[in-house]
Amino acid sequence: MLGKVIKLEIQETFRSCPTCGYRDGFHSSFQKEGALMKWLLNCPSCHDTFDIGLTANQQLESITKKG
Ligand SMILES: [Zn+2]
Repeated sequence: MLGKVIKLEIQETFRSCPTCGYRDGFHSSFQKEGALMKWLLNCPSCHDTFDIGLTANQQLESITKKG
């Protein structure tokens, strides 16, 4: 279950957590929104969830076709 999702526009890189300052990258989670699979990033330190506009749709289709 996901808590609040913080929407962000990234400038050049997205590596540090804007909430707590954690600097070693993010975990991934996915949330279905209609036909889209949103690709969300979770801070391993404070567990905030960020949406930087990524989706995982094509990935999902190619997996389905192989199976
Ligand atoms: Zn954090």
